[in-house]
Amino acid sequence: MDETPTTREPAPGPLALVQDFVNTAELPGGYDELTDIPAAVTWLDAHGFEVNPDESQRRRLVETREHLRTLIGVNSGLSLPAHAATRLGKLLDAASVHPVVDAGGVRLASAARGVDGFLAALLAALLQSSIDGSFRRLKVCRSDTCQWTFYDNSKNGCGTWCSMRSCGSRAKARAYRERHRHETASGGDSEAAGVAVVARARRPHLLRRRLAE
Ligand SMILES: [Zn+2]
Repeated sequence: MDETPTTREPAPGPLALVQDFVNTAELPGGYDELTDIPAAVTWLDAHGFEVNPDESQRRRLVETREHLRTLIGVNSGLSLPAHAATRLGKLLDAASVHPVVDAGGVRLASAARGVDGFLAALLAALLQSSIDGSFRRLKVCRSDTCQWTFYDNSKNGCGTWCSMRSCGSRAKARAYRERHRHETASGGDSEAAGVAVVARARRPHLLRRRLAE
């Protein structure tokens, strides 16, 4: 039985920052909230980081995002190319974090500002979520036309689509067409395509963007 819910909750705690960061780009060929410096400043400010990156730093952020998506893809059964792992490690190496001990225990913090401070927050979130196991539930949607990063909150941790109502339904519509392509008339195909169009309009991240605007 597929336990994929019709909607997905965001990743818990600091991992939500990683999820939002990777989802600054809608693939393939959609919007990119890091497309230029003003857009990057707006996104960073909305997430609590007063950062004014120059062009090389903006490109560093974009490169970090793309390698992070590759890393998250491992949780969806994809492979991790060695160069991507090495490069992401080097990009995050600029993010110095140090332990802070207080009554709540030990946490990671950083005195870095700017892009390095943001990367430090990403690194802390990645470390914490890797230790507590939540990182393994951060996944890339299996649909090639989506690739949205979602948090798999299903009971069995076997979710594959960002939303059953959108991508899952589209995949099922495609499978249906494949199974019946020699049997159905063109009207049947139109009906299946209609399901796909409706499903795309319901993509949760697009709805979320609309709500945020
Ligand atoms: Zn999807």
